[in-house]
Amino acid sequence: MSSIIQLLPDHVANQIAAGEVVQRPASVVKELLENAVDAKATDIKLIIKDAGKSLVQVIDNGVGMTVTDARLCFARHATSKIRQAEDLFSLGTKGFRGEALASIAAIAHMEMKTKQDQDELGTHIVIEGSKFVSQEVAVLPKGTSFAVKNLFFNIPARRNFLKSDTVEFRHVMDEFQRVALAHPNIHFSFYHNGSEMYNLPAAGYRQRIVGIMSGKTNEKLVPVNEETDIISIQGFVCKPEFAKKNRGEQFFFVNDRFIKSGYLHHAVMSAYDGLLKDGSQPSYFLFLKVPPNTIDINIHPTKTEIKFDDESALYAILRASIKHSLGQFNVAPVLDFDRDSNLDTPYHYKDVEAETPTIQVDGTFNPFTDDKTNQHYSKTSSGSSYSSGSNGSSSSSGSSYSGSSYSGYSKRVEPTASWESLYVGLNTENPEAIESSPFTFENEEVTSSLFNDDEIEQSTQKTYQIHKKYIVSPIKSGMVIVDQHRAHQRILYEQFLLNMTVNQASSQQLLFPLDLFYSATEMKLIEELKPSLETTGFVFDESKTDHIVVSGIPVNITESEVSLVIEQLLSDLQDGIPASSYSQNDTIAKSMAKSLAVKTGSYLTEKEQDNLVNGLFACKDPNISPFQKPTFITMRVEDIDKKFAL
Ligand code: ADP
Ligand code: MG
Repeated sequence: MSSIIQLLPDHVANQIAAGEVVQRPASVVKELLENAVDAKATDIKLIIKDAGKSLVQVIDNGVGMTVTDARLCFARHATSKIRQAEDLFSLGTKGFRGEALASIAAIAHMEMKTKQDQDELGTHIVIEGSKFVSQEVAVLPKGTSFAVKNLFFNIPARRNFLKSDTVEFRHVMDEFQRVALAHPNIHFSFYHNGSEMYNLPAAGYRQRIVGIMSGKTNEKLVPVNEETDIISIQGFVCKPEFAKKNRGEQFFFVNDRFIKSGYLHHAVMSAYDGLLKDGSQPSYFLFLKVPPNTIDINIHPTKTEIKFDDESALYAILRASIKHSLGQFNVAPVLDFDRDSNLDTPYHYKDVEAETPTIQVDGTFNPFTDDKTNQHYSKTSSGSSYSSGSNGSSSSSGSSYSGSSYSGYSKRVEPTASWESLYVGLNTENPEAIESSPFTFENEEVTSSLFNDDEIEQSTQKTYQIHKKYIVSPIKSGMVIVDQHRAHQRILYEQFLLNMTVNQASSQQLLFPLDLFYSATEMKLIEELKPSLETTGFVFDESKTDHIVVSGIPVNITESEVSLVIEQLLSDLQDGIPASSYSQNDTIAKSMAKSLAVKTGSYLTEKEQDNLVNGLFACKDPNISPFQKPTFITMRVEDIDKKFAL
């Protein structure tokens, strides 16, 4: 009986391996750049076309290859970097598997030119889908050039799977940045479709970081330096006030290799404890060096995780050294005894002078007279604590209380001349009105009549703000409680969308145009968003390579909010720009509404509260925020009655 097991032909095996190594153009960029670094190049040029889909070329001035090696490098498991398994534990190079070139050659058209310094002539090889097409002797400069064209030409399914050029370009950019940051002593340049994205002369870490991020990065960096037996740490963290909304600029390098580590990230974050606004992310660029035998990088080629021998020691050292740096540069309190925050004075009691307790005695009080006006209602002051009985989430906003909002707390409520005066304006003539028309929001008519002027109870104040979070307003059937943040999001969202669709946003001209600096990746995104942003009222002057110039802004934005809005937008769009312009507008409107909506914890004047409530109910879709959360709830008088009946 003939055997049914067969060895796969090399080109098939290579194609299968390629599935793991090469996922997208960025994978090719990574492999070729790393090979150039391993070849000890001091000058590396990356050229791509169509986000790398049509061309990825890397030209280096490294050691080059001999004629034999030039051919051998495309064979599977062909590597010059390790000879025996033990070498894995003292690895000083990026590559070691000898898989990359074989894999790439299996799924693309590839051209290689290489020459070693001492040789007169070099080698020029063309290989397509693992088949050698030609090999010639050629006059070449020292070093190696790999050009990879038509990626996945023979695997249409994989080719179709690639994302838009914008997304693929971002991946390429990520890989380029990682390698360029890890090797500041190498001159890197990068061209996309003929235009220069980066030209980074050999430099130190700081200059390289600034070169890659943006001109404004320099002033944000705080150096970190630590030398111990088990680890050396060099690099920079950013001052807390420059923390960003997204995690875009967080880099760990271990022995010059970019890695991701949730654990070490946690160490950094804990060093910033108490210094960051909620949810904001500090940028960091940390270059760790550990003895090669204390880590295990023998992992999947495309993975960036790493295993350390003594993780918890690294954690402690990293945390301490960053804390120290932040402290030294006066951005953090140096002393920190892991305070128990439960022992802190509650915020709203801080700086409030203690009052000597007094006893109020009403000398005129006579229990045997019938005169109600004599009664004291001092107890009603405790009634104000009732508002804190709302749901648990209110406790999170508790710290946002300013002392002033609490001043009513310590005040003794003066005896009211007559308790009826508390209810002045309540429609007492027609008490049945309360019972009629139970309130349903599904019903359009009821909704639209909600705030007819004569429907709102005619008290002097129509709305009340509680916990700087909710606006309460009496309505015919009871009361409505509006979440100020979500309501405002809804209002702004509809406004922006309307402006964008009818394209008639008005903008305010800035006296001094704003220069806003961004990284190359961000600049690219902004360029694509510009047309949509202009429909909201932004006016841009011609932008430079690393910054945009904003000369006009939408009317509902203040100058100081501009950079926040754009940053939020970039962070919201991190996962790729939506394909259709409709959803792009929607994303922009949502993002801007999110940044600009009045926050929980903001005090609103009576007029602002009023505008907010009216604005909400003038919306097309007042019931939910743009993020599908309820914007208000109602409470009918019967519901309240029930609570009192208990
Ligand atoms: P690995 O990097 O894991 O060794 P590769 O398939 O990426 O495997 O490369 C195979 C071999 O080809 C390398 O070990 C190296 O000897 C040679 N090589 C690849 N790229 C270059 C380059 N740019 N300059 C000189 N030699 C190179
Ligand atoms: Mg390699």
